[in-house]
Order: sequence, then structure tokens, then C-alpha cells
Amino acid sequence: MSECIFCKIVNGDIPTNKVYEDDKTVAFYDLNPQSPTHILIIPKEHIPSANYIDENNSDLISHIFVAIKNIAKEKGLDKQGYRIVNNCGEFGGQTVEHIHFHLLGGRQLQWPPG
Ligand code: 5GP
Ligand code: ZN
Repeated sequence: MSECIFCKIVNGDIPTNKVYEDDKTVAFYDLNPQSPTHILIIPKEHIPSANYIDENNSDLISHIFVAIKNIAKEKGLDKQGYRIVNNCGEFGGQTVEHIHFHLLGGRQLQWPPG
């Protein structure tokens, strides 16, 4: 059995507050929110990080971005705006090695991110 916590969420072994699900992706609220709305969007397939995006899975990544845009609209973030974040590897601050995109909104976000 996979030890990956996001694979466990996909399989239903760890309960989450799901926002969206289809055959390829799941979205759920982050356990430790950094903004009033903080949602994680992940592929059901285990892809470790952005380093593993290639021609074979780029359609899946595109699909996820369409889902993110739809979720942002559904949550009322589209007019004021939001941020989509992917942390990759140690210097990127990635802590879960199953690719995921953060959807952050509901407050003014600062730049640079630090
Ligand atoms: P990273 O730091 O890898 O970009 O983001 C991982 C995110 O996953 C963090 O924001 C963290 O709060 C969130 N997270 C870690 N474990 C769980 C969990 O079991 N459930 C949920 N909903 N979020 C989690
Ligand atoms: Zn995984």
C-alpha cells in the first residue's frame, strides 16, 4: 500500500473535506490554510512533483488547471483574483511528494513570496 498521504486521500483512507472530484483529480481544503480560501488540487495518479511533468501527463495537468479555474469561480474568487502555487522540491518548499497545486484566495496576497 502506498505511504503517500495524498494517495491515501485519493483512496479514501484519510478523510478530507472534498471540494471537487472527477475521474482524474480531487480537490480538498488544506489542513493548515494560509488564506481564507486554501484548496489543494491533485491528480489521482501519483506524480511526485513538477519535475515529473512530461508529454505523457501534460493533458492531465491541463485538465487540473481547468478544474482550478472552475473551482475558483465556484468559490467566488474569480473577480478579486487568486493565486495558484506549486512548490517543487526542497528549495521550492514542497513537503508532500505527490504533485499538488494550491489555490489561495480571499485576501490580498503579497509578492515576492519569500
Ligand atoms: P507543500 O508544502 O508540499 O506545497 O504543500 C503541502 C500541503 O498539504 C500543506 O499546505 C499542508 O498543510 C497540506 N497537508 C498535509 N497533509 C494534509 C492532510 O492530511 N490533509 C490536508 N487536507 N492537507 C494536508
Ligand atoms: Zn501519491
